[in-house]
Amino acid sequence: MVSGAADAPLIALRGIRRHYGGGDSGQPAVTVLHGIDLEIRAGEFVAVVGSSGSGKSTLMNILGCLDRPSAGSYHFQGQDVATLDADALAWLRREAFGFVFQGYHLIASESASENVEMPAIYAGLPKLQRAQRARALLSRLGLGERLGNRPNQLSGGQQQRVSIARALMNGGRIILADEPTGALDSRSGAEVMALLRELADAGHTIILITHDRGVAAQARRVIEISDGRIVSDSQHGEQASTAGSAMALALPPAAGEGATPWLAELAEAARSAWRGMRMNRVRTCLTLLGIVIGVASVIVMLAIGEGARRKVVEQMGTMGTAILYMGSKPPSTGGPAGQLTEEDLAAVRELPEIRRVMPVIGDPVTVRYGKADKQIYVFAASEEMPLVHHWKVTQGRYYTEAEDRDLAPLVVIGHKAHQHFFPDTPNPLGRQLIIGSSAFEVIGVMSERGADSGAQDYDDMVFIPYRSGRARVYQAQTQPDYVVLEAMSSDVVHEAEEAIRKVLLARHGGREDFGIGNAAARIQAEAATRQSMAVMLGLIAAVSLVVGGIGVMNVMLMTVRERTREIGIRMATGARQRDILRQFLTEASLVTLVGGSVGLAAGLLVGAVLIISGVPVVFSVRAMLGAFACAVVTGLVFGYMPARTAARLDPVRALAGE
Ligand code: ADP
Ligand code: MG
Repeated sequence: MVSGAADAPLIALRGIRRHYGGGDSGQPAVTVLHGIDLEIRAGEFVAVVGSSGSGKSTLMNILGCLDRPSAGSYHFQGQDVATLDADALAWLRREAFGFVFQGYHLIASESASENVEMPAIYAGLPKLQRAQRARALLSRLGLGERLGNRPNQLSGGQQQRVSIARALMNGGRIILADEPTGALDSRSGAEVMALLRELADAGHTIILITHDRGVAAQARRVIEISDGRIVSDSQHGEQASTAGSAMALALPPAAGEGATPWLAELAEAARSAWRGMRMNRVRTCLTLLGIVIGVASVIVMLAIGEGARRKVVEQMGTMGTAILYMGSKPPSTGGPAGQLTEEDLAAVRELPEIRRVMPVIGDPVTVRYGKADKQIYVFAASEEMPLVHHWKVTQGRYYTEAEDRDLAPLVVIGHKAHQHFFPDTPNPLGRQLIIGSSAFEVIGVMSERGADSGAQDYDDMVFIPYRSGRARVYQAQTQPDYVVLEAMSSDVVHEAEEAIRKVLLARHGGREDFGIGNAAARIQAEAATRQSMAVMLGLIAAVSLVVGGIGVMNVMLMTVRERTREIGIRMATGARQRDILRQFLTEASLVTLVGGSVGLAAGLLVGAVLIISGVPVVFSVRAMLGAFACAVVTGLVFGYMPARTAARLDPVRALAGE
């Protein structure tokens, strides 16, 4: 109950004026209402009659708290309406008023039953009760068979009955009907009037606005308005009396009631958002496309980048991170290249930072078996080769240090070399290969390195002991082509490099006629470049995500414009600004959620295709979640502005569809 005054009139207007334009609006000032004084008691059935343009609708908007007067006071149950904020006014519209408009103002995308339920959604009634009450109301108004019909599947009279049911949904203590029969044929009009009379008899306060004196005459009190002034006010019949105190309404608690569980509200907003998306399929698809492409490309780009990086790292693994290379080269100061002698290698082998020293000579050499011959890279190196390259022998064995020292004519062959020379011989051990002009006995077959290792060329090669190679194949060679060195650990690679340089400089009389390379550093540098490339690609993809977000904003702004009237209807039935804000934000998030999910699927699909076609791709869950989250955040950020625009619409202007 409101502050005191139990006998206060339900509605009391004093000196209500309403101007339009003027001031800095650029439009000429028009005064539509010139000081209206009016009292309406609970339970009255009042008609406001006047010619078109006399200010009836303006008055009704003020009575229904859709609009505020420019001057004058409006007391509702003794409480000054001017003191209420937007939420309290929404509450009042929801709990006290039910609007019936000439143009019905039903939401086109929703069924009759859903239209009727709407005020109860904002009032926080649970779904089941809502549906039951809507069905009961519609059945009572003769629309029990039409619950699921959309407004465009109903006649004008039926639509008006739906809107009356909507006005009654939250109780409809005061029905404000603006030309309710204006768009109806005389029979439907008569039905609607009968309905209003019935409601008046049942104790509802009815304020009927019409230009038709015949219609107005059916009310018990007729107020005539002309050019914004009341010119007559006459009582015709017994008013349904004093349901006044029984109908009185407690005003909302100051803190706002928060009656509706937010989850239910969210579900409701999501449902209506989903419907909106389905109604505008093409537009939705186009908007989604932006988000889908954005999310998918972020995922794919990052996956490709990660794949490339992993591949380099893997390569690094097979090469070992502690590997150094050494060779002779002309010094930068000029003069001939140096010679790496056996003694040099022995001295380097003595260094504490060095684990292994493996001189290598390798060149394409003609290799024959029977009638088959082929130019093959013949790799002459010490018995440490499998250790240095983290490589295993699958058949037979590798040669030993002793065999190397004895110049034994032994060969271990790569996987592809095996296939080439001995296609029909699973076990080629003991066969003789002619390398250059010497015979070598096959004692082992290396395991397959495969395409992924970054070292598949090794599968083509054959491997012979270093000394025996120098003696039998590479007689002209005076020093190794290069030397592979393995440091004690990857942590001491740089120290090892320095130590080698020092030893060799000393042995070569201070001339730097040799070069030392660091495999790990090179590979790491490459990995870093590839990673930064991946990051760049990811950034480009992220930009496309933002572009997608702008698309969402664009569509949302269009949606708000298209649906101003719907927003107005929702506000008239009691939606608060935050309800509208939530609805449009939900729609934006739903678009981006769906877009994000489809984008995720598309990204995985593209990735799968890439994997099938041999591109190294590594999906990262973090990238996927990140892209998805970005999409949703984009939707919220870019959806916020349009949603706020919608929420801040003025109810009267929104209802007019401006
Ligand atoms: P009725 O409902 O009695 O036909 P209205 O209340 O709709 O009349 O309008 C009364 C007068 O106010 C009309 O002359 C109309 O042109 C003017 N009017 C209504 N709304 C606006 C507005 N937003 N801006 C300027 N003039 C308005
Ligand atoms: Mg009007």
